[in-house]
Amino acid sequence: MINFNEPIYINKGLNYISDAIFINKRLNGDGVFTGKCKKWMESKFSSNEVLLTTSCTHALEMGAILCDIKAGDEVIMPSYTFVSTANAFVLHGARIKFVDIRPDTMNIDEKLIENAITEKTKAIIPVHYAGVACEMDTIQEIAKKYKLLVIEDAAQGVMGRYQDKYLGSIGDIGCYSFHETKNYTMGEGGAILVNNLNFKERAEIIREKGTNRTQFFKGEIDKYSWVDKGSSYLPSEMNAAYLYAQLEIAEEIKENRLATWDFYYQGLKILEENGFIELPFIPENCTHNAHMFYVKAKDLDERGNLIHYLKSNGIGAVFHYVPLHSSIAGLKYGEFIGEDHYTTKESERLVRLPLYYGINKQDVEYIVKKVCDFYIRH
Ligand SMILES: *Cc1c(COP(=O)(O)O)cnc(C)c1O
Repeated sequence: MINFNEPIYINKGLNYISDAIFINKRLNGDGVFTGKCKKWMESKFSSNEVLLTTSCTHALEMGAILCDIKAGDEVIMPSYTFVSTANAFVLHGARIKFVDIRPDTMNIDEKLIENAITEKTKAIIPVHYAGVACEMDTIQEIAKKYKLLVIEDAAQGVMGRYQDKYLGSIGDIGCYSFHETKNYTMGEGGAILVNNLNFKERAEIIREKGTNRTQFFKGEIDKYSWVDKGSSYLPSEMNAAYLYAQLEIAEEIKENRLATWDFYYQGLKILEENGFIELPFIPENCTHNAHMFYVKAKDLDERGNLIHYLKSNGIGAVFHYVPLHSSIAGLKYGEFIGEDHYTTKESERLVRLPLYYGINKQDVEYIVKKVCDFYIRH
């Protein structure tokens, strides 16, 4: 069986965990390795402050608190996304305004955002699907015009770029995931990029259970206490240690994934040219990170058959995202603004193929062959 995903394993990751335990003798949050990850990301992604978190879900929740989301506020996002993008804001009483996606990138259609803005709108949440950037210049302009905040869900976008900027570093806040299924992993984990300096101090407080403990450790104050709402969003040093080994070779990991992505693309191009499937599209001004390789079948039926065929040939292909606006919670907490031209239709066609760091070249060749065989047979 070729698994859909396998977690990254790097020898150094284990050594670093051992260092955290036996040398640094410190396992709780914000120790040596968390600090190294933070510094590395701040310098690489040019963000004012990067805080490691327990997940991207939690980074998004911190974002909602920083935006002061209150009952009745509205936020705009695509319906084609993971539940956490919406949940983080629903938890604080927001109503979700779902907007249609572009069929080429599966990202929010920037041209439809303005139509969803009302007096209650607080923020726009672009999701960089598959590590391919949303049209951020347009989104930033709209946000400026209507005085809205931008929180990037860059869970899938670590190391991807829009023009010369890293995803997650463009909006007021950016959120990364280091979940096992993402490009860089600590099992469960994430980061919040605080690009807007106005949020810096408060972000540290919210992450430290609503205390000013971080300032205390920096020597800025002489005792710490409860100053704001917050929670515990600090990951363990063991998780940070595992992640740091990957950040050190972040480019190599990206190149490895890109090579697999390109191989799929070249191998399956012939099916696209003959009108059987559609392949991912990368706009000119985007540098993607090969988070995902997907193909689009003709429709829901054909996709089901393709996944079944691949499975019966030992290949773990998957689909994802029942559009949020049509889910039980989505119907309760939000609504779709405008016409659903593409969200449902395109999401029903999409199939993700196995892609992970170090995937066997022969396995990828075999998968390409099997996808081609499927279309020859049918
Ligand atoms: C994975 C993912 C998340 C959630 O990340 P966690 O770290 O698992 O909380 C949020 N949004 C998107 C778009 C994702 O792909």
